[in-house]
Amino acid sequence: MILFYFDAPKIGVSLQKKIKMATKRLKAYQDVLNREPKHIEFDGKLSELFGRNVFHIDVMREYLPSDTYKSMMESINNGTRLDRKNADQVASAMKDWAISKGATHYTHWFQPLTGATAEKHDAFFKPIGPGKAIERFDGDMLVQQEPDASSFPNGGIRNTFEARGYTAWDPSSPAFVIGKTLCIPTIFISYTGESLDYKMPLLKALHAVDLAAVEVCQYFDKNVTKVQATLGWEQEYFLIDQALFNARPDLMLTGRALFGHAPAKGQQLEDHYFGSIPERVNAFMREFEVESLLLGIPVTTRHNEVAPNQFECAPIFEECNLANDHNLLLMDLMEKIARKHDFRVLLHEKPFAGVNGSGKHNNWSLSTNTGVNLLAPGKNPKTNLQFLTFFVNTIKAIHDNADLLRAAIASAGNDHRLGANEAPPAIISAFIGSQLSSVLDDLEKNIKAGKMTPQDKTELKLNIGKIPQILLDNTDRNRTSPFAFTGNKFEFRAVGSSANCGSAMIVLNTIMAKQLKEFKKSVDARIDKGESKDEAILKELQVLIKQSKKIRFEGNGYGDEWVKDAEKRGLSNLKDTPRALQVWHDKKVAKLFEEMGVLSERELDARREIEFENYVLKIQIESRLMGDLTQNHFIPAVVEYQNKLIQNVQGLISILGDKVGKESAKAQISLIQEISTHMNKMKSASDAMLQQRKLANKIDDAEKKALAYCDKVKSYFDEIRYHADKLELLVEDELWPLPKFRELLFTR
Ligand code: ADP
Ligand code: MG
Repeated sequence: MILFYFDAPKIGVSLQKKIKMATKRLKAYQDVLNREPKHIEFDGKLSELFGRNVFHIDVMREYLPSDTYKSMMESINNGTRLDRKNADQVASAMKDWAISKGATHYTHWFQPLTGATAEKHDAFFKPIGPGKAIERFDGDMLVQQEPDASSFPNGGIRNTFEARGYTAWDPSSPAFVIGKTLCIPTIFISYTGESLDYKMPLLKALHAVDLAAVEVCQYFDKNVTKVQATLGWEQEYFLIDQALFNARPDLMLTGRALFGHAPAKGQQLEDHYFGSIPERVNAFMREFEVESLLLGIPVTTRHNEVAPNQFECAPIFEECNLANDHNLLLMDLMEKIARKHDFRVLLHEKPFAGVNGSGKHNNWSLSTNTGVNLLAPGKNPKTNLQFLTFFVNTIKAIHDNADLLRAAIASAGNDHRLGANEAPPAIISAFIGSQLSSVLDDLEKNIKAGKMTPQDKTELKLNIGKIPQILLDNTDRNRTSPFAFTGNKFEFRAVGSSANCGSAMIVLNTIMAKQLKEFKKSVDARIDKGESKDEAILKELQVLIKQSKKIRFEGNGYGDEWVKDAEKRGLSNLKDTPRALQVWHDKKVAKLFEEMGVLSERELDARREIEFENYVLKIQIESRLMGDLTQNHFIPAVVEYQNKLIQNVQGLISILGDKVGKESAKAQISLIQEISTHMNKMKSASDAMLQQRKLANKIDDAEKKALAYCDKVKSYFDEIRYHADKLELLVEDELWPLPKFRELLFTR
């Protein structure tokens, strides 16, 4: 399989030249041709590494006085506040532990709405007199910090003159040491208490779904007192050699190739997928996995993905908040460690047109303190009724809030992926497999109006009891569905590879909380009217199955048929981010978040603003860079080649005479013309785009600006690229100023 990959020393001469050209601009990147895998020295058991750099519960037990430990457990499990004395104790223990791991600094680690994580480092070291110093870290420093955060996006909540956002400790996610820094997971809020991050609303959504799910679980098992949402993400990414990356301004500045013709060989042969992992890549993976394990991230799976140079890594699922922190940490780690191996990681959703993009499947479920996965079919009719309850309620929640879910995964990058015949479409639907479809269809049909006879009930119970067997045989998997049931969890596949999972998880858990609350209300009302509990639940499920039918889709989500069918069903197909984000205006959405205690209207407004602004910034940068590359890279190269051709034609004419000379130079002349045509079209589209950008920049309103960038500016991208990519094919290989896809994707 590796046969197809170039061996480093055998790379073509033209690539060497190109790297030299890039080298002229960017200094010494020639090493790419001679790279060796950099294996780290490590020969212990991986299990011994796990969580070694985490201040986890066992470490706390060892380091904390027993009453402080108890308070801390209370705080972790129930969100109670630690008092001053205990906070000081925890801080002091944390400091001692961190110093024993070599830490000299600490940081509040948070998740601003930029999408990346942020940190500001402070030293433990504190001078206390001439020539004297101590290491200090107390409860105040642990619990709250005021980073100078005026430049993080705040959607107008925090005017810069009162630039006082602060970070506050999240005890439910353990502190950890990276390098020489103790990192403390925190939420990020404005001085007036509004959230400016992903973590705070996520914690609130998780709390809401906990409360609502426990209430519903009480119908089945009185021992359930806590329900946790679980998240298992699967991270896809590309690896590109650092030198080649640096020779592509578009990859450097936007994370994706704005130009580039698809290589003659792409992923058609599928020889990369699950093929053997190249050694240099393997060395990189091993190192970042070891680092991940030290931080308690339970990564277990690695493999090649569909596209060349595309890979995936997945851990075992964890509690949702922790899993999300771990994903953010992992993305950070990957970038750092890739550089050590002379790679760069691309987390963008669509770095290369024409080959697969990257997603981040979010596997999601709910689990109880009694150890039951609420989305796993049980062993008897009773547990299966519980399973069906949560299963059907999830589908109903998706049905009622499909647009909101779509908005939660909207981003400039993900727009390239959704609906691009490789990723799920922009239409939200749920796939449950043929077996469960028929279970739901039966329930819908067979529950009769009026009181149930004992015989009806027995029959239903028998049917419900059959679920586990049929699920075991149920191997159908629909890769084209954005939201698929996969046996014991739902898999939200439409999430983008660079996204903070928080965005999707806030929405999913909030809408589930709301749905479960409604369900409980309706079932209780039925019981009050004299229906038995099981009957009330079954009849309510029947109602939900009927109401949510249109969101269920078992067919091919990539097909055009589905687009038509979905439209008939009245499902939305929001193809771009600005349109998807408009749902945040909906009063129902504001009410939902307010009612579930997740986001206030003011916070919602701020978020919407920030999302529109983020979109504008992304498209603006891409558009500027397209102009630059066209003007400064492509046109000069193209002209140089054209001049070469012109010289050749003139030479032929001067030797052979006008008629014969032109006859002999037919190919060159037509090339000269073809080049001019594409160059002119590329240039005028780029100029027209610039005009539109100027107009769009005058718009103040974030939403209108985003729409203008989407409809008037971005709309030129394809045209400019089309001509540039044609020129790439026409111009002499050596003269083309950027490494080509075949070099980026097949060089290791
Ligand atoms: P794939 O989707 O690639 O076929 P699996 O079905 O084995 O792989 O699992 C995919 C992911 O689902 C894994 O990361 C796993 O941790 C996660 N997962 C499994 N069970 C749950 C659960 N109950 N809640 C959340 N995630 C889960
Ligand atoms: Mg998967």
